[in-house]
Amino acid sequence: MASSVSGPRPDRVAVVGAGMVGLSTAWFLRDHGVEVTVYDRGEVASGASLGNAGWLTPGLATPLPEPAVLRYGLRAVLSPSSPVYVPPSADPKLIGFLTGFARHSTTARWRKAMGALVPVNRLALQSFDLLAAGGVAAPTVEAKSFVAAYRTARERTVLLEELEHIRSAGQDIDFDLLDGDEAREAEPCLSPRIGAAVRLHGQRYVNPGAFVHALADSVRSRGGEIRTGVKVTDVRDRADGATVVLSDGTTERFDAVVLAGGVHLGELGRKFGVRRVVQAGRGYSFSVPVERTPAGPVYFPAQRVACTPLGDRLRVAGMMEFRRPDAPLDRRRIKAIVEAARPLLRGAELDERQDEWVGSRPCTVDGLPLIGVTGSPRVFAAGGHGMWGITLGPVTGRLLAERVATGRSPAELRPFDPLR
Ligand SMILES: Cc1cc2nc3c(=O)[nH]c(=O)nc-3n(C[C@H](O)[C@H](O)[C@H](O)COP(=O)(O)OP(=O)(O)OC[C@H]3O[C@@H](n4cnc5c(N)ncnc54)[C@H](O)[C@@H]3O)c2cc1C
Repeated sequence: MASSVSGPRPDRVAVVGAGMVGLSTAWFLRDHGVEVTVYDRGEVASGASLGNAGWLTPGLATPLPEPAVLRYGLRAVLSPSSPVYVPPSADPKLIGFLTGFARHSTTARWRKAMGALVPVNRLALQSFDLLAAGGVAAPTVEAKSFVAAYRTARERTVLLEELEHIRSAGQDIDFDLLDGDEAREAEPCLSPRIGAAVRLHGQRYVNPGAFVHALADSVRSRGGEIRTGVKVTDVRDRADGATVVLSDGTTERFDAVVLAGGVHLGELGRKFGVRRVVQAGRGYSFSVPVERTPAGPVYFPAQRVACTPLGDRLRVAGMMEFRRPDAPLDRRRIKAIVEAARPLLRGAELDERQDEWVGSRPCTVDGLPLIGVTGSPRVFAAGGHGMWGITLGPVTGRLLAERVATGRSPAELRPFDPLR
């Protein structure tokens, strides 16, 4: 069921942000025959969409605020080696965010938020298939195995409980349980320390940087324009259109504008009523050579470390650091990931790291993205997907493009109202 909104169909739309979300929106807008120009202050995929783990895992795409966050406790998050890190001198805005986040970390709110994600999770992988059928050249890879590994069966109960909650929220997720030997048989890169695992089925992964570049190429070949190295400094709303003000001092008029600036979404969105803070949950990654490339992603949930095979190397990613998005890469976090992963991986040369990277997950207090029309009928928001903007980027672009181009809002978008 879709709700109707009146207004003329826009012919020309600007998209701010050439990450997974902005480019997916541009791609699907071209499907509707809308002219698009995408602006990025950096390059294509210069934000969070580059060095992330690249998992396409609707089965795990759950709201970030969850009851375990409260159990984990504040004391743990102040240690630089903790997988979740808050600087001790947090500013008032960050304290406000964390307080709101803690308020949402209850079972009842998790269930409600999960209920909102299930319908878009269901459309996530088929939205990738639409991109592939429409000419996006980078492949999505079926994970032959996707192993979440633990030292002990006791540690694993946390994930089993979570999977039960995920299933009872209506999310399909198929898995089986492995002991340590079975896990190593499935993934020889697991060390003898691994004593129990969960193998997830039906998930995929991508090389996210390569994928987003292929998406950009496809947007261009379908007639869209992508302008990089230009920051959109303001959006001016008039009854007859929306004008973007660019960092080179020029302006350009469009019928509508989509704000998809990742962690910077709020900077332009605030004046259109988007009050929900988009906080940087910074994550780190690097790649290492491996003796045998794993058959699929490997996850160490207790350490919050995610590994993805990319070519002949393994990308290792982790950490949730609540800090300014432009703060420099903090080597202590890389070290923390290395030391967490070292006892659990076999045949990974963790000291031969390349591509060290930090990027900002765009996080919201309720763990739900902001997708839809703002206080202006000509300005739309698309972002705030936190941990899951790669998995949910294409479905977001697909549903939002429908809203922008037709004026009808798909029912799946209702819980993601950017003005909530
Ligand atoms: C370590 C790590 C691992 C992750 N693993 C996964 C995973 O396995 N699966 C998954 O689904 N998600 C994962 N994520 C989350 C995912 O990376 C993000 O949710 C997603 O990339 C967000 O995409 P986006 O397009 O909204 O933002 P971004 O990719 O950050 O893109 C926003 C773009 O907007 C541009 N921009 C901002 N403001 C302006 C402006 N004013 N003018 C012009 N341009 C502007 C920026 O330069 C940037 O290029 C991970 C994140 C991290 C950090």
